[in-house]
Amino acid sequence: MVDVARSLTPSPSPEEGEGNVERKWSVNHFRNIQKMRILIVEDDPVLADGLTRSLRHSDFAVDCSQDGEQADLVLAAQNYDLVILDLGLPKLDGFEVLRRLRRRGATVPVLVLSARDALADRVKGLDLGADDYLTKPFDLPELEARVRALIRRGQSGGSSLLTHGPLALDTSGRRATLDGAQLELSARELGVLEVLMLRSGRVVNKEQLAEQLYGWDEEVGSNAIEVYVHRLRKKLEPAGVVIRTIRGLGYLLEKDS
Ligand code: CA
Repeated sequence: MVDVARSLTPSPSPEEGEGNVERKWSVNHFRNIQKMRILIVEDDPVLADGLTRSLRHSDFAVDCSQDGEQADLVLAAQNYDLVILDLGLPKLDGFEVLRRLRRRGATVPVLVLSARDALADRVKGLDLGADDYLTKPFDLPELEARVRALIRRGQSGGSSLLTHGPLALDTSGRRATLDGAQLELSARELGVLEVLMLRSGRVVNKEQLAEQLYGWDEEVGSNAIEVYVHRLRKKLEPAGVVIRTIRGLGYLLEKDS
């Protein structure tokens, strides 16, 4: 049995309760749709539990599967934004899970996680369609950084050019244009804009923006994000690109019609 329902229980938001009754629906509605879904396939219960907790704490919706056969069934039935896949698994090994996943045409990013550090295994995994590879033991911050990078790449379809109506952002060249004209943006304004564009139509909270902009140990002033968003609005709104504030939740780049 895959306990999918239990694992999707939302974690409490620190800002919840600020909104009025009318906003309550929005809080629950957006909280459910904005979470990125990750499937962890790992048979070591201690590692699986640690990963699950850590990723849930970072506001991902996490499901966990402990053998290859079950993972294969779950992946055939559900959509995820990322799969973290161990290689040595009971019933069906990670290579076979990956082979079947790609044979079905699924493009979900896969981060292979394994105790095997042999070059041959790494090459085989990448040949079968893995997107990244991490050898145990690893640090959690390292894993989370790779998770974020893979999800971002997956959402932009592997391309470095994001577009939104008249707005275009080249994530590798770090430049943005509006109606073809170069936009003057600071590095952090560009960072905020990139996250909003990657998740356009979804709410992004301040913590998520701060995580993208600052290092693990940096303290972020509580109104820094507001300042960047304010500056972006002044530059974007004349062209009809709207960043909405969802009170108590975060910001939303409105879908272009
Ligand atoms: Ca294993």
